Amino acid sequence: MSERIHIFDTTLRDGEQSPGAGMDDNAKVQMAQQLDRLGVDIIEAGFPIASQQEFESVARVAKAVKNARVAALARSLDKDIDRAAEALQYAKRPVLHTFIATSEIHMKYKLRMSPEQVLDAAAAAVARAKRQVPRVEFSAEDATRSDWEFLAQVSTAAIEAGADVINLPDTVGYTTPDEIRDMFRYVIANAKGAEKAVFSSHNHNDLGLAVANALAAVEGGARQIECTVNGIGERAGNTSLEEVVMAINTRNDRFQYECGINTKEIVPSSTLLSMITGLTIPFNKPIVGRNAFAHESGIHQHGMIANASTYEIMTPDSVGRSRSDLVLGKHSGRAGLARRSAELGFELSDDQTDQLYERFIVLADRKKEVYSDDLRMLIVDLHNEEFQTYHLEELRTFGEDPTVALVKLKCGDEMITETATGDGPVHAASVAIERIVGHTGRLEEFEVRATTPGKDALGEAHVTVRFGERAYRGSGASTDIIASGIHAYLNAVNKHVAYLESKKLNGNEK
Ligand SMILES: [Zn+2]
Repeated sequence: MSERIHIFDTTLRDGEQSPGAGMDDNAKVQMAQQLDRLGVDIIEAGFPIASQQEFESVARVAKAVKNARVAALARSLDKDIDRAAEALQYAKRPVLHTFIATSEIHMKYKLRMSPEQVLDAAAAAVARAKRQVPRVEFSAEDATRSDWEFLAQVSTAAIEAGADVINLPDTVGYTTPDEIRDMFRYVIANAKGAEKAVFSSHNHNDLGLAVANALAAVEGGARQIECTVNGIGERAGNTSLEEVVMAINTRNDRFQYECGINTKEIVPSSTLLSMITGLTIPFNKPIVGRNAFAHESGIHQHGMIANASTYEIMTPDSVGRSRSDLVLGKHSGRAGLARRSAELGFELSDDQTDQLYERFIVLADRKKEVYSDDLRMLIVDLHNEEFQTYHLEELRTFGEDPTVALVKLKCGDEMITETATGDGPVHAASVAIERIVGHTGRLEEFEVRATTPGKDALGEAHVTVRFGERAYRGSGASTDIIASGIHAYLNAVNKHVAYLESKKLNGNEK
């Protein structure tokens, strides 16, 4: 049997660092359950010391996940470690992940610590974590710009103190495949007790090398890859889970390893993440982009008809995208809808199924064929709304130049109506919404795209709205693109309102 590569998913922690990708607790739990179905080995749920809300969402994810290990991040500080251990108390298989920077530039300017102090802090942190949680991962932040001999020393100290996993991250996305392979070889050969630990690679994609670097790290001896769905993450993002997994699977002749991923859950995971964060997937993104399996040229199409493997190195089916994912028509019924939702991975209550059915009928009236992606969008919308303070009850727009919008919002039992004028329907309606909620944002991005093919397609709108220092992504869907834009705007406003509420509850938030 070939050797196992562990997949450590950090979509909920590092991925959430993507500007605007903030997910609320419910979205995180939903995504964690999907990652569990996908079969990742470890789900990094968050950084509990960051805020009360972050702490609670880690605890909720820890409770909800059935199979995967659940990890929480902590700096090498006592209060961070204790807080992370507390958040992990409900996890069946917890992992405490602690880190400290080891590069000269980070030690000198960020930590203001000497290498000896860093060495001591790392060992102390691992020992403290190990007393509270059975499995501990230690990360040497900015490892790829650190001195290799020092990395071997820190790894030795961490393993001696009880670390089970040693992660050597390329925090700034600077390394190259041959360099990272050599670094792992060196550290594994020179750290005492290296055979007792699993070595892990965590890469960033600033130079577009994250996936290549992860595979090279495996060649150098790493047996765990840290990655995110759709490659989301700070700056240019992290190693993309779907790319690294499909590279290992498709080129198993070169990478003789296996990972426990159920690849048919790749596209459903990618779509769900895109919908809950509002971060759209580029059409040409490998594996999950809309065009990743599209063959345009006549020569290719001809070859494909003769034999699919002439131009296809993997099948769309193997990653969970069936070519004709026609779901349901108007006459499918409530039971059919409930079954299909369950197949897509959503567990809905009876009440939610009723509400979904109502919306489905409205949509099926407008468009003959309802696809899986349409259904996912409806469910995510429904889910979002359940936790929103303000709901859109009515939207009417009149005239042009200026346009007048009438907006009716529901907040608890209260109905609030407001009118406003603007340069167009979206502008006018967003001004009316802002008057009702009492916060003014700035619309920074506004994109509209069709969820599925066809003239009658559901239009998805994605917006970025900035309130002071914070920017939020919002999404909405409707067969009317103006309405989807307003839903998306209101979704972002609701995220800001939720943030302000959580701050009120949690006075000491940083
Ligand atoms: Zn990172």
